[in-house]
Amino acid sequence: MAKQEKELTVEERLKHLYNLQQTLSEVDRIKTLRGELPLEVEDLDDEIARLNTRKANFEEEIAALKKEIDDQQENLEKAEKLIDKYTKDQDNVRNNREYDYLTKEIEYQHLNIELAEKKMNEAARKIEVVKAEIAKTQELLDDNEHVLAEKKSELDEIVSETKQDEEKLREKAKRLENKIDSRLLTAFKRIRKNARNGLAVVYVQRNACGGCFNRIPPQRQMEIKMRKKIIVCEYCGRILIDPALAGVSEADAKNA
Ligand SMILES: [Zn+2]
Repeated sequence: MAKQEKELTVEERLKHLYNLQQTLSEVDRIKTLRGELPLEVEDLDDEIARLNTRKANFEEEIAALKKEIDDQQENLEKAEKLIDKYTKDQDNVRNNREYDYLTKEIEYQHLNIELAEKKMNEAARKIEVVKAEIAKTQELLDDNEHVLAEKKSELDEIVSETKQDEEKLREKAKRLENKIDSRLLTAFKRIRKNARNGLAVVYVQRNACGGCFNRIPPQRQMEIKMRKKIIVCEYCGRILIDPALAGVSEADAKNA
């Protein structure tokens, strides 16, 4: 096996490398597509949970306010009954002192009624405010749930669509990796790991490195075209190949 590897020409090795690069870039693309969606779905789930808690808190607040209204209604009815009773008692008093006492009690119960009414009105006003907050929260919930449903189905679609593709690409990458000698493969992996966009092999574009876009001197471009040596960009360290090897026409590479 090792002997066979050594028999590969530089051109063949570069071809395999570029093939591997393209295959892995395709895997990267799939991972990126998927990679952002699960995070977005998670964020939306968190936001929806937060809004649901908020809504539940508002609903508790309304329940407490309704109870306050019921309590005050009870106080009011109690006071009315007492007024009735004291008014009747006034017909049977024995002296002025008793009559005045009942008059004061009746006044006091009227104040209690006023207070209960005031508290009921206040609670009713607060309920309206909280109801408006619930409506706002519900609107946000609806929006988020709508977006979440979309993202989830998008993610499901991508996962089911790309699962097979990814497996095939990974198998292809493995086959290519077996064709490349381990030293070159290690170098390739190291460059790829450090390179932005995971590009370790790039072709010459408009007389510049296709990775970092620094100019490549004509002499060096000639050497790249010869395909006799593995040449790396002196700026970014990426492996350079000529456009034709990448299956790109010179004209396309110039216009790219
Ligand atoms: Zn470069």
